[in-house]
Parts: sequence; structure tokens; C-alpha cells
Amino acid sequence: MREHVMRCKDHGRWPVPNSYARHVPRHGIQGSFWEDRLDRRHCGVDIYAPAGSSVLAIERGEVVSTGIATSPAQRHYWNVTYHVTVLHDSGFAVRYAELEDFMVPENARVAAGETLGHVGRVIDPLRVTRDDPPYVQRLSVSTPSMLHVEVHDRCADPEKERRYSGGNWFSNERPPWLVDPTPLLMRLAPGDNPAR
Ligand SMILES: [Zn+2]
Repeated sequence: MREHVMRCKDHGRWPVPNSYARHVPRHGIQGSFWEDRLDRRHCGVDIYAPAGSSVLAIERGEVVSTGIATSPAQRHYWNVTYHVTVLHDSGFAVRYAELEDFMVPENARVAAGETLGHVGRVIDPLRVTRDDPPYVQRLSVSTPSMLHVEVHDRCADPEKERRYSGGNWFSNERPPWLVDPTPLLMRLAPGDNPAR
């Protein structure tokens, strides 16, 4: 069933043309889906790119929500970043997150390849302290900018979930609505992601 909802109706676009690479991180390494960050799990896949790079819709669909993805009110070491969540016509919802801005309003129809917003930077190194989690301290050195891609079963609303925050899940028990984006992203860049 999950395999069914993950297939794009058209060819599908890689969401960040300007990304440093189109290689999708394999499970277990930094930026991969469900990466174990000790106090939290990663709900999406990170695509690294220069801050300000355009983020495109991978397929046509409807913008179902926009808003804050991270903020210092949630975690003191986070910058304000935004998300755009698109319910794609194939039936899966993609949360494009950690954006520095967004360009489309809620309820808008978007075309495949349409610009949704721009890549942002989540960690503010000046607000990271020695008491913060090790993975946050590592990021405070490199402060990477990235797109966080998260895929949901169509009706999910992570903002209502107590254990969800900023693209992380603060438990080891994976929520049933959270879909692994790895196969979808690999299909969007097949030359860089040969079959395992
Ligand atoms: Zn992420």
C-alpha cells in the first residue's frame, strides 16, 4: 500500500536543483530517515544545499498547510524556519521543511517544479550550549543548510502530536502515518541512487 502511494503520477522532480548532491542518505547516517539522534528520531530525509536555494514541488498538488517548522520558542538553538505541506495528486503528502521563506499560500494548486520556498538553516550556533544534545553540538560547528523532506499518509497532522517537534519524533515508536521518503527520493534521482 505504501509503495502504491509513493509513486508519482508524472515523472517527478528532484526538489532542490541546486543541492550539493542527489544522493539520498542511506539508513543510519546523518540526515537519513529515522536516524537515531539519541533523544529523538528524524522524521524525514535531509537534502543539503546552499541557503536560499529554490525548493520545488516534486509533483503537482494542493498546498494543505504552511507555517512555522522550527523556532527558538520550541528549542532555544533553533532559528525560525517554515514548512509548506503539499498533498500531491498521487495521494501522499510531502512536508517541505526548514525553509527560510515560502512562496505559496494555503489551498493553492501547485504545478510540478513550482517554487515553494527557499532552503534555510535550522541551528543557531550562538545559542547552542554545552548542555544541548551531542548531535546539536555537532551541527553547531557545521551549521548546514538543508531541505527537510517528510512524507505522510495523506491525513496526518503532525502539529497535533505531542511527540513531534521540528521534524523530529521524541520517541522510538514510529507513528503509523509517517512514511519513509527514501524510495521516493531515490526514484527522483535514479542516476545518483542505483538500486541497492
Ligand atoms: Zn531533517
